[in-house]
Amino acid sequence: MKLDVDVLRYLSKDDFRVLTAVEMGMRNVYDGYRLTYLGYDFLAIKTIVNRGVFTAVGRQIGVGKESDIFEVASEDGTVMAMKLHRLGRTSFRAVKTKRDYLRHRSSYNWLYLSRLAALKEYAFMKALEEHGFPVPHAVDCNRHCVVMSLIQGYPLVQVKQLQNPETVFETIIGLIVRLAEHGLIHCDFNEFNIMIDDEEKVTMIDFPQMVSVSHRNAQMYFDRDIECVFKFFGKRFNLSFEKQSDDIDGSEIEADESGRPSFSSITKTAGFLDKELAASGFTRKDQDDIEKFIEGDDAEDEASDDENESELCQTNIKCVDSLHLDQEEPTSSCKEEGQVDENQQSLETGQSGDP
Ligand code: ADP
Ligand code: MG
Repeated sequence: MKLDVDVLRYLSKDDFRVLTAVEMGMRNVYDGYRLTYLGYDFLAIKTIVNRGVFTAVGRQIGVGKESDIFEVASEDGTVMAMKLHRLGRTSFRAVKTKRDYLRHRSSYNWLYLSRLAALKEYAFMKALEEHGFPVPHAVDCNRHCVVMSLIQGYPLVQVKQLQNPETVFETIIGLIVRLAEHGLIHCDFNEFNIMIDDEEKVTMIDFPQMVSVSHRNAQMYFDRDIECVFKFFGKRFNLSFEKQSDDIDGSEIEADESGRPSFSSITKTAGFLDKELAASGFTRKDQDDIEKFIEGDDAEDEASDDENESELCQTNIKCVDSLHLDQEEPTSSCKEEGQVDENQQSLETGQSGDP
């Protein structure tokens, strides 16, 4: 299934009514019609367009393991990035593990989990930005869709040369450590999720899989994030690592002989960002739900990186100038979305099905 935004322009009010009705029907475990990702895309995009966040959808700029990313533009011409979460699609890593998991949990479905992933991403992006982390600016979210500022530059995986690889490397390791101090582990901190611009400024992206430092596998996730960065910089930029001092980033954090920071020596404050996350409507239950889903996701990561790259090459780039949608659905923001949110929460009790 591919999102063809052209089609959106020709959808009538009735078409949207039907999609909304199916979405509502899924709440009542009505087994007969089921929303596909395409239908969900249309509902989310229409809602956000009606809020006045953007008026045009442009080319696809990224295909992630679990998402499609498009450029969108607001009325005044500001270009932003729109990420549509697609949990459960065939290229999704460890999809079998997850399918097995979901089979035993019929109260879950992919649309519900994609909506949770988007809400989590939006909430974390906002909270991290408020604490001075280099992340995209979170603009809006609805259903499985997040709108954020467009980051200039490239994913690190595409960068063959750096002026100051040591500085970039230290910045990135410093970020992982500072995240841990804030009670968080990224869990997918690799060259695909680090953007770098011409000034070699680093921005981190892609947060749906983040966990708390109090997670039972926290140490393993932390070490894996660190290892990914060490391995990549060693291979791509020929950096060699040795312990220079006990000091990382001017702090008291210990490191092993190879300079890898030790998780246990970091002063961590779990729950540090809870208040900010709750402000975006992301609850503890949401976190628990999505964390359960992340479990068992560890082995297949390396293989899927190649998959990611080859998939990117096949991306069918499409340009669309503007959208003209009916102004019908009520406008509201992510936070104060009682009504709409309740409808979507309902997907939890819907059918578990493949997209
Ligand atoms: P996934 O969760 O599917 O891996 P990502 O958030 O990592 O999705 O995004 C996939 C790709 O899309 C990134 O590697 C990057 O090239 C591009 N991308 C994502 N967000 C942005 C953004 N805010 N600005 C520019 N490019 C982005
Ligand atoms: Mg990614």
